Amino acid sequence: MDTPVSQIFDYYPPEGSDCSPKIGQRALVPFGRREVVGFIHGISNDSSLPKKKIKSCKSIIDKDPLINEGAHELVSWCKNYYHHPLGKTYATAVPRYLRAGKTPAIEKMLFQESKDKKKLKAHQKKAYDGCIKLLKKSAPILLNGVTGSGKTEIYLHLMERVLSKKEQVLFLVPEIGLTPQLYEAITSRFGNCVGLIHSSTTDKSRAKAWLAAKENKLSVILGTRSSIFVPFHSLGLIVIDEEHDESYKQQSGLMYSARDLAVVKAKKSGCGLVLGSATPSYESLLNAEKGKYSEVRLTKKVFSAKPPEKKLINLNANSSKKGLSAPLFRSISKALKKGEQSLLFINRRGYSPVTMCEECGKIEECPRCESNLVSYKGTGKLKCHHCSYQKTAGTECLVCEGKKITVGHGTEKIEEELKEKFPNEMIIRIDRDTTSSNKKRIEAFGYAKSGDAKILVGTQMLTKGHDFPNLSLVAFVNVDQGLFGSGYRSSERFAQQYYQASGRCGRRNKKGLVLLQTHNAENEALQALLNDSYMAFYEKNKEDRRRLEWPPYTYSFLLRAESPSEKNVFHFLDNIAEFIKNSEYISSIKLLGPIQSPIGIIRGKKRGQLMLISKNRKKLHMIGGRLISFIDAKKLGTKVKWSIDVDPTDHS
Ligand code: ADP
Ligand code: ZN
Repeated sequence: MDTPVSQIFDYYPPEGSDCSPKIGQRALVPFGRREVVGFIHGISNDSSLPKKKIKSCKSIIDKDPLINEGAHELVSWCKNYYHHPLGKTYATAVPRYLRAGKTPAIEKMLFQESKDKKKLKAHQKKAYDGCIKLLKKSAPILLNGVTGSGKTEIYLHLMERVLSKKEQVLFLVPEIGLTPQLYEAITSRFGNCVGLIHSSTTDKSRAKAWLAAKENKLSVILGTRSSIFVPFHSLGLIVIDEEHDESYKQQSGLMYSARDLAVVKAKKSGCGLVLGSATPSYESLLNAEKGKYSEVRLTKKVFSAKPPEKKLINLNANSSKKGLSAPLFRSISKALKKGEQSLLFINRRGYSPVTMCEECGKIEECPRCESNLVSYKGTGKLKCHHCSYQKTAGTECLVCEGKKITVGHGTEKIEEELKEKFPNEMIIRIDRDTTSSNKKRIEAFGYAKSGDAKILVGTQMLTKGHDFPNLSLVAFVNVDQGLFGSGYRSSERFAQQYYQASGRCGRRNKKGLVLLQTHNAENEALQALLNDSYMAFYEKNKEDRRRLEWPPYTYSFLLRAESPSEKNVFHFLDNIAEFIKNSEYISSIKLLGPIQSPIGIIRGKKRGQLMLISKNRKKLHMIGGRLISFIDAKKLGTKVKWSIDVDPTDHS
């Protein structure tokens, strides 16, 4: 059942029925004073409870198990690996509609032999043949191919092979914005055989797609991370596009990585797995080096293009209060004159990250979080990005009646500057705020792709996996914020964003230009980005990670706790730190903390954390299990909300 305890509850089969329950069926059971839907997770002839205490199921909902063997295995694996309560794991894995005990009617949506088919270019054919050979080896394949090398076409060819054997395909993308183009590509080739699962899918359609895949009535599921839990009847291939993307990791509740689960799912079901990226994660590259993955590389582009010219713009020399320097404006003008498109990347939403009183210096902060409020000019609001708090911006300081000014830039401010400078051009901003509805999102990307929009401004949402045929200039408005961010992953993350975005310009035989605005023009890492390929950057950068013993050379757990009382947070964390220090595993584990979390307060709750790092994954998991028993036994968790994040990617 969907309860936060890790316990499994025992029930008798429904009274007077002669049915024998099966693992994976849903059952309606009495629970406290309510009746709830649960999943039959196991069947046993005995129980630790006295017989009289055991109640009977009210009814069994499914004739055949809803959770098939593969899904049952994945849920169980997930529960153990992420140290998460079983009921909550089911609740993440199964669509809400089905958890409510309902069963939708499904239709047949099966693959049809394709009519039009693109011929693979020589370099694609070679990679495709390589994949076919390697798929027989049953190790995951890392398709490491530069942007524009035509990975999508390779996926489609691999899919066709699998589909024509009447097997099914699961295709994962990191972000909803990438689904329309792939949906179009897949359905135009293989017919109406695709179930879509992403954040805008209704509960019912999600359940329909899920069930149809399980009943073998549907050939392809295309979706974002939660689709990894879809049970298939005969899965032949999983494709994880943009495998490096952090959106594959869920950051709350069951903090799973859909990419890592794909590896487990493929292994358990014996299907093929292709992880594709132009900028693979360090984890996957290391797995390839160790031989756990097979690697196929694509270094050629489909449309030959000279590599883009790359230049730094030294902001110290071109100082301007505004976000965009004069050289950047000149380059945009040049592109416009040639009828070409420009893309400006800045990983910050809103108008500006800081609003301050010019007189007394008071900064607008969230009253509930340890965080500055982000201003939004369009709506005249100040918003907190960590909770739902917002208020009217106002122009005067409430303390001294001084004038409020904004400091720093977000996408909205950059858009405003551009509109002032280029009032007659179509400028499109793409970030989470401007693409909140399906309609808005599809419209914005439509203008961006058709080339009608001459200037694009956006966050990483804009740079992920999109093909803009007319793009010739890519500019990073604020390099320093990304490259010198905190955390051991920041240089990897920035390099990925940089090579992803810069790889999008200068396709189709146009000469591209990449500009980086920075205050640190002499920085070594920046120089490397200018001169090296992603793989060369990785080769150098990985040595830092190895030397400092960060993942992927080690494994880590992040334990978080929060409570309105800081004392409770640290009482909890100190107890755990003590337990770890006294355990037999301490020799193979490094303990960092307890410390206050980087964002120390969210929604009025004080936050603290500690991190466990080890080269030995098994020992780390053993201590994880012990920890939870310790917390339960000592009832430590009663005054704090706590969670374990296994293989964390976000340390805030
Ligand atoms: P990647 O995902 O590797 O960055 P894409 O799959 O977006 O590359 O391909 C880049 C462009 O090349 C797309 O516009 C795609 O339609 C085109 N393309 C890919 N393969 C072929 C092919 N074999 N023949 C013609 N065009 C192709
Ligand atoms: Zn807040």
